[in-house]
Amino acid sequence: MSIDHSEALAGLVGQSTGNPFVALDLVNEPMARHWAEAMGDTNPVYVDDAAAKEAGLPGIVVPPTMLQAWSMVGLTGTLERDAKREAAVQAAEESPNETMMRLLDEEGFTSVVATNCEQEYDRLIRPGERIVTRSMIEAISDVKTTALGTGRFSTTKTEFFSVGPDFPADPVAQQQALESAERVGTMRFRILKFAPKAHVPAKPPRPRPAITEDNAFLFEGYAEGKLLIQKCSSCGTLRHPPLPGCGACQSLEWEPIESKGLGELYSWVVVHYPQVPAFDYPLPIALVQLDEGTRIVANVDFDPHDVELGARVKVRIEKFDDELSLPVFELVEG
Ligand code: ZN
Repeated sequence: MSIDHSEALAGLVGQSTGNPFVALDLVNEPMARHWAEAMGDTNPVYVDDAAAKEAGLPGIVVPPTMLQAWSMVGLTGTLERDAKREAAVQAAEESPNETMMRLLDEEGFTSVVATNCEQEYDRLIRPGERIVTRSMIEAISDVKTTALGTGRFSTTKTEFFSVGPDFPADPVAQQQALESAERVGTMRFRILKFAPKAHVPAKPPRPRPAITEDNAFLFEGYAEGKLLIQKCSSCGTLRHPPLPGCGACQSLEWEPIESKGLGELYSWVVVHYPQVPAFDYPLPIALVQLDEGTRIVANVDFDPHDVELGARVKVRIEKFDDELSLPVFELVEG
């Protein structure tokens, strides 16, 4: 974290996040019924007046956990609110909440995740009530490191009030009216604003070679740390890569010999594109003239630009993963 806004953030704790919000709808039975249906809550006190009275209530009540639903603004309202926030930021008229979010962004904590929500209910709410909320920044944590990344937790406390039909429209008058209004519930909503960890994708394994009856011995040899070469059993000609028959005498009989792994740089290319995720680039690939007389294509662990053709090289068999070992040539010192 290069920027530290600890002091400015501490100054925001305890501040209101904005004007009180008057619920768009009175508490009502249809919304409560839909909620109970969606939640699978079959308690009859939410839908059946007689059942509610039998349970000792004055009549139908709405599900307590629906508390926040009464203060929601819907998609259109959310879009309008976001546009207003953006305009406020442009006009440098941020609310403390907007300031907090901006400061956290500036600290590099640009991602957000809701971590927990706690609700307390003062009493049950009934259809016909008008709910008004007010919110404040209750806490902003020190910088913490979590499994998601490093950031700060912020807790917003929202209080829910039940108000009468004469609740004022003016925000200042609203704040005053809430001082003597009846609180019906409180919600604490905690988020983590964090710097996401850089996502480093795991390097995929090297592509598997196409193993055939003719070349299987080569890869079995690599697995044992050996560089094997096909030798014609009839005329003794070496060949690589493996082939079924001898190009010199057409014999199908052959046997592997183990190369000493010494040779010289015959030619090379350095691959820049196309890039395959399993490899590192630039990727030098050499054609090595083995001392036994045949040539082999393989990776090298040096930059061929730095050496002359004919430079002496030596193989090492490198294990790339549990299933794949391949030859890599390195320069012979001196
Ligand atoms: Zn032959």
